[in-house]
Amino acid sequence: MTMSAQPQPEPVVKNVGPIILLGPPGAGKGTQAKRIAARYGIPQISTGDLLRDNVARGTPLGRRAKETMGRGELVSDDLVNQMVDYRLQDEDCARGFILDGYPRTLGQAEWLEDFLEHHGVAGHVCGRPLVMSITVGYNELLHRLSGRLSCPTCGRIYNVHSQPPRADKLCDVDGSALITRPDDREEVIAERLKSYERQTLPLVEFYKQRGELLELHGARPAEEVFAEALKAIEHKA
Ligand code: AMP
Repeated sequence: MTMSAQPQPEPVVKNVGPIILLGPPGAGKGTQAKRIAARYGIPQISTGDLLRDNVARGTPLGRRAKETMGRGELVSDDLVNQMVDYRLQDEDCARGFILDGYPRTLGQAEWLEDFLEHHGVAGHVCGRPLVMSITVGYNELLHRLSGRLSCPTCGRIYNVHSQPPRADKLCDVDGSALITRPDDREEVIAERLKSYERQTLPLVEFYKQRGELLELHGARPAEEVFAEALKAIEHKA
């Protein structure tokens, strides 16, 4: 079921602070981030989307990241941190923001912790982040990623098995032809899942030790995961 067809309720205007979504590729971070962003009228900052946009525009950053992304490996911390630093200066981040796919290494997590503590966001001091880690089993991830289709215009995500678009390979929202991301090819998927295990999974412990982690079981309908995420956000805000 896609969520776009129904009219969206007005965003709830309140400060929610930084929200970090952790989880392997295919866990549903993008789907949840979009819902939370719409609910509170705060930006979804997906480093994957920012990088893909740079690649598509052929910027110097995009040219440096393209090959690494094509192999399913992580782009260097320096490049990604700089990109996030720049994005967090924007005024739309003042009430809160959702980091989707960032941080992904201990180096990035440490950089972000220092940044939030010492620089603030868009000129405002912001509180401690709420970190939600979405967990999904390996076989389910493979199934999801190999059937994933994305809309190049609005970013909506579909799945040929579980969330097909109404018309064959066309976005329900804007009618764009849906695409398979180059890194959703099977040989690259395995590498992306390996990078996650090696480099990103240690962050679960990093945030657990700080008492900032909530684990969400992601192998459920997106609606249920969203309801649990909202409860945690409301509890913290
Ligand atoms: P995603 O859309 O989040 O799955 O990201 C797609 C690709 O972009 C990843 O496989 C990486 O090559 C790159 N990427 C996205 N976010 C990061 C990050 N935080 N650190 C390093 N590389 C990233």
